[in-house]
Amino acid sequence: MADRDGQIWFDGQLVDWRDAKIHVLTHTLHYGCGAFEGVRAYNTVNGTAIFRLQEHTQRLFNSAKILRMKIPFTPEQVNEAQKEVVRVNQLESCYLRPLTWIGSEKLGVSPKGNTIHLMVAAWAWGAYLGEEGMRRGIRVKTSSYTRHHVNITMTQAKAVSNYSNSILANMEALDDGYDEALLLDSAGFVSEGAGENVFLIKDGVVYTPDLSAGALNGITRNTVLHICKDLGLELVQKRITRDECYIADEMFFTGTAAEVTPIRELDRVQIGEGQRGPVTEKIQSAFFDIVNGRNPKYAHWLTKV
Ligand code: PMP
Repeated sequence: MADRDGQIWFDGQLVDWRDAKIHVLTHTLHYGCGAFEGVRAYNTVNGTAIFRLQEHTQRLFNSAKILRMKIPFTPEQVNEAQKEVVRVNQLESCYLRPLTWIGSEKLGVSPKGNTIHLMVAAWAWGAYLGEEGMRRGIRVKTSSYTRHHVNITMTQAKAVSNYSNSILANMEALDDGYDEALLLDSAGFVSEGAGENVFLIKDGVVYTPDLSAGALNGITRNTVLHICKDLGLELVQKRITRDECYIADEMFFTGTAAEVTPIRELDRVQIGEGQRGPVTEKIQSAFFDIVNGRNPKYAHWLTKV
């Protein structure tokens, strides 16, 4: 990723992609205290626009607050930075990665005395779990790793350190021949994917774990809650067990990167008909209408760059 053309917004300046470097003694690199966002811009019917920019920026500031980090920029500056990187890199549709981290003035667990930094990069990125997965559905493995307990690390922060758990789960799933991992919380209830929220459909009702299961408050998850309301689908947030997934009619993952990805198999158990289900397809199609600017009701979720 480091050796490519383009520009990255780095502490208020646009710098060449190859020069956007930090020191090896960066505090976050050693102890994992940092926060990031994953955002997408779409080539909408009205031109390139960032989806739910304000909500992503707000979550970044919330994550930083939870981690006791003071971002030295305003949310407006961070919004502008995101628009700028899409423009200067001449991207029509892309993924954006804002990241805030603790500097390299001193080491030791206490971050006090270090500066806080922020960068935003953007690049073209297609379907996270594959184009075929979007159509056919993916194969998922329940992880042997437990999702973070809500008082071990802060699960409402999109914290860098939370992702070591996601990486372990994802690597295990991929090594075992699956596409992605599903994690259970410390009480054994369904929490979320390694980088996605999870939904299931049973007898026409849509279910998703409530956030006490340690899942991130996903912005795509929230978008799907709106879609369900619009489609007249009943949506229930509750504790969900692994076996409820096995006997579900349909399942899908949501995320900025993953968008709405159907799940066709969990632990070698076929979900429903073993393909993208009809309700998932409706939700997926409504999602792509919204992000591509084809649903005027949600025009305010799209910020032109
Ligand atoms: N859970 C985790 C662990 C994630 O990394 C993500 C991706 N940000 C999500 C859920 C989905 O969140 P969002 O829809 O806001 O991208």
